Amino acid sequence: MNLTPSQCKELIVAEASRLGVEKIAFASIDPVDDEARNIYQRWIEGRHHGEMAYMEKYSDVRDNPALLLPGAKTIVCCAINYQPRQRQDTNVPQIASYALGRDYHEVVRELLSTLAAYIEQLTGAKTRVCVDTAPLRERYWAVKSGLGFVGINNQLIIPSRGSRFFLGEILITEKFPSDEPCTQKCLRCGACVKACPARAINADGSIDTQRCISYLTIEHRGDLPADVKLGNKVYGCDVCQDVCPHNLCSSPTTISDFQASEALLTLDEEAMKTLTPEQFSALFRHSAIKRTKYVGFMRNLSRVLAEKAGD
Ligand code: SF4
Ligand code: SF4
Repeated sequence: MNLTPSQCKELIVAEASRLGVEKIAFASIDPVDDEARNIYQRWIEGRHHGEMAYMEKYSDVRDNPALLLPGAKTIVCCAINYQPRQRQDTNVPQIASYALGRDYHEVVRELLSTLAAYIEQLTGAKTRVCVDTAPLRERYWAVKSGLGFVGINNQLIIPSRGSRFFLGEILITEKFPSDEPCTQKCLRCGACVKACPARAINADGSIDTQRCISYLTIEHRGDLPADVKLGNKVYGCDVCQDVCPHNLCSSPTTISDFQASEALLTLDEEAMKTLTPEQFSALFRHSAIKRTKYVGFMRNLSRVLAEKAGD
């Protein structure tokens, strides 16, 4: 039986949903448009990417995802809900909610690889899965495909679902009907700008990365800037998502790997203080938290404790 591209697309959407993808959207692969390319270039030239040097590299690939998979014609953008049912006690040094479960690189890659295998079997096309590792403009493609829109807080927001999602993409060497770009927009209520504890969000939607607690506690190496208070955040920061009205309609994930692990829910301040490098490695082996490394985690914790002590 020969299926049309539209029929294949319907089957792919259904399979994605069965696997736990909350929303999926298709876009035709073309080079990134000039406006988006220029905005990114200015952002890099302004050094807003801090120490994330990888963001300067592979601009040819970043501007044209077809270079990631010869013959790629379609990009499928997938949103996977990570919102855990439970979060830590608020007195304990806080870990961003996306990092309370298993490392999303592992979970999302497994999930999308299963979906990609299904697509290959269904269509005979070649695929490539991208999960935060390839030089791909995730949010650009998410907007273009109609998955959602970008808020002033720089998060990809999915209408009626919110922003607590991981994004992943599948490139396919087959043409499928594209979805319509999203017409909804950020409410521009300013709640995220006001609530940001580091004053890192500018009203025009640009982020001062060098002040953002999420960047500083995860990506930044070396001393933390003296004038940014972490305010009990030891890894990442959820504030600009927690206050966003688009998240009022969000609901917890059904993916068990993204529920908060018992080990993290019971990790209190005393236990954090006495963590050894070996315990850190064992505890966070399958957690995104390993990205900050032991030294970074303990640096963050020292700052949190010093702030509590009023130093
Ligand atoms: S808090 Fe308001 S301004 Fe900020 S992203 Fe959400 S809707 Fe937009
Ligand atoms: S993650 Fe935290 S520090 Fe960074 S922009 Fe959002 S609220 Fe501000």
